[in-house]
Amino acid sequence: MKEAMFYEKRKNGKVKCRLCPQLCLIEPGDTGYCFIRKNIDGALYAIEYGRVSSSYLDPIEKKPLYHFHPGSTIFSIGGLGCNLRCPWCQNWNIAQPRDSFPGIDIEDVTRQFTGRMMPNKVVDLAKKYIPNRCIGVAYTYNEPFTWYEYVKEIAVLIKEAGMYNVMVTNGYVMEEPLREILPLIDAMNIDIKGFRESFYHELGGHLRPAVKAAELSKEYCHIEITNLVIPGLNDSEEDLEKLVDWVAKALGKDTPVHFTRYFPSYRMATEPTPLETLRLAERIAKEKLDFVYLGNV
Ligand code: SF4
Repeated sequence: MKEAMFYEKRKNGKVKCRLCPQLCLIEPGDTGYCFIRKNIDGALYAIEYGRVSSSYLDPIEKKPLYHFHPGSTIFSIGGLGCNLRCPWCQNWNIAQPRDSFPGIDIEDVTRQFTGRMMPNKVVDLAKKYIPNRCIGVAYTYNEPFTWYEYVKEIAVLIKEAGMYNVMVTNGYVMEEPLREILPLIDAMNIDIKGFRESFYHELGGHLRPAVKAAELSKEYCHIEITNLVIPGLNDSEEDLEKLVDWVAKALGKDTPVHFTRYFPSYRMATEPTPLETLRLAERIAKEKLDFVYLGNV
């Protein structure tokens, strides 16, 4: 646990977190929307600092990043929590600990279900796997921006070691923390959930901050965009066209886009995305973009 960055103390022991656009006002003893930043005695703490739920040496293509050191591997780590609530989340057991560990305090969850891995240990492991083509560390599996303090400390050490930092994120972060960390980040895969404001409301968020974060990130590092195509929710021609138009205009037509296939998970039982729908997305995108890929097919 570590005292959080980007928060203000308010009256009556409350704190206001300014890390992500949820801008949680948190009562003493409570956690924010992400469940992993907690008000303890009027100060905000990053409960998940130094705690890892999942780690693996993944191919870089699995992030997915297809245009960033193809053929390499990356030491990938994840924690707990997320600042959105996607009902189809494929990693909900770590991203939504409120549901996977109902009624259990986050500090107990952390103690029992994550392992301690301090930043220098993460860097040592990334270096250890250099013979296995490891190029650095990926912050992935759940939402890494809610792990901000830990990610930033590792990222500094990784740059000092001459290796790369990769974030796999929903891009739901405020501009100030994003600007502070971007000089350390080499590549991002940003998951744009759909290109409709009302769609983001269903996930407990807004489209605009994610779009702005992607546009700013493009100025600093390599980015690729992922869009999980879900039957009946974000798969209309209009939604797909809006997403493609934005990528082409705001990020550039050479930005790789991955349309991935949805499978039932968490709170969703809808049948998997038909392959014809993915082919439609691919056709629409290929009219305006240079690099379009289908995932989970
Ligand atoms: S990072 Fe967590 S606590 Fe902070 S504003 Fe976002 S959801 Fe709320």
